[in-house]
Amino acid sequence: MSTYSINKKCPIDISNDPWEPYNDINMHNQLTLSNIEFTTTNLCNMRCSHCAVGYTLQTQDPEPLPMDLIYRRLDEIPDLKTLSITGGEPMFSKKSIKQVVKPLLKYAYDRGIYVQMNSNLTLPQDRYLDIAEYIDVMHISHNWGTIEEFTDVGFGAMTKQPPLKAKLKLYEQMLDNASTLSKQGMFVSAETMLNQSTLPHLDKIHNEVVKDMHCSRHEIHPMYPADFASQLNVLSLQDMKHAINHLLDIRDEDIWMLFGTLPIYPCLNDEDDQALLQRLRNAKNVTTRNDPDGRNRLNVNVFTGNVIVTDFGDENGTISNIKTDKLPDVFNQWINSSLAQSLNCHCAEFNCLGPNVLVKNMYYPHTDFKEKEKMMHRIYQTN
Ligand code: SF4
Repeated sequence: MSTYSINKKCPIDISNDPWEPYNDINMHNQLTLSNIEFTTTNLCNMRCSHCAVGYTLQTQDPEPLPMDLIYRRLDEIPDLKTLSITGGEPMFSKKSIKQVVKPLLKYAYDRGIYVQMNSNLTLPQDRYLDIAEYIDVMHISHNWGTIEEFTDVGFGAMTKQPPLKAKLKLYEQMLDNASTLSKQGMFVSAETMLNQSTLPHLDKIHNEVVKDMHCSRHEIHPMYPADFASQLNVLSLQDMKHAINHLLDIRDEDIWMLFGTLPIYPCLNDEDDQALLQRLRNAKNVTTRNDPDGRNRLNVNVFTGNVIVTDFGDENGTISNIKTDKLPDVFNQWINSSLAQSLNCHCAEFNCLGPNVLVKNMYYPHTDFKEKEKMMHRIYQTN
């Protein structure tokens, strides 16, 4: 177990987003491994069409790796600031909660590390209350413009469908859990993807997040066509920008809105883009976040030990295994790989870390961002 002393954690707010990879540039002057995401279970009570693991979910988890190995690999990361716990549904399997989730939460607590859990929040409330004190961000996906969307897409990858009544009950449970946990002080952050399915319903979804679920934050992430999401329709760049402007028009300004991995960049000579970026910068309670995947984060599967650059899994595959390798070594190897080198750009003037591989492939396949970077550095005399 770690011998690190407890760091006092500052509250999470618009000026303190511990998952922003630019924090590491500010602190260490370079991209640094500070975030590990653990896949702690393959089990879930739902099977969302858009879920990264929706099609690989199993009926029984294998035995996890010994926690001693996992603690050791975490101890070896000197700059670890955040842990993300994902699944499946991390609170579904009691065995996994006892063997893996709670030990990880306790480790993070003892080391003063921020914890985010990615949950569907549809399970009985006492499960979430039981771990409330250890959770800094309870992250939930909310892409349900209509109840049919939930009952269809939320179980889209399930071969034997549960009865409609049971599905509806889970929706109610999710709303009630979000609202109750929020009122009890938990930081619940709902994420909505921008895609063809959510686009007509953004007002309704935002209202539900704010008024019914009482979330502390509404996260907005464009949906990129990674393999797992290929069934759903991505938006054209133009529609994406309209959607962002629309959200800025209709949102409740008292609630933090975080935009992640936006496909608009200061180096692209587009007046509309620049106006939108400016609007985002000036808007009350709005932040944007660079994509953490591969910038400060690696994902570890607790059963296999496989390490992936999260969400690039399909692009890049497994890059290592914690049974044999230390995570900072894996991260450095990744950062020095030709793929990462070809992608990673950085303009300090705008705290921008450029597009990830999915964004680039989708919207800017022919743009050379390394050239753009040089141009920006010439203009702003930075390097
Ligand atoms: S970091 Fe990359 S994407 Fe961002 S402004 Fe600079 S060159 Fe453009």
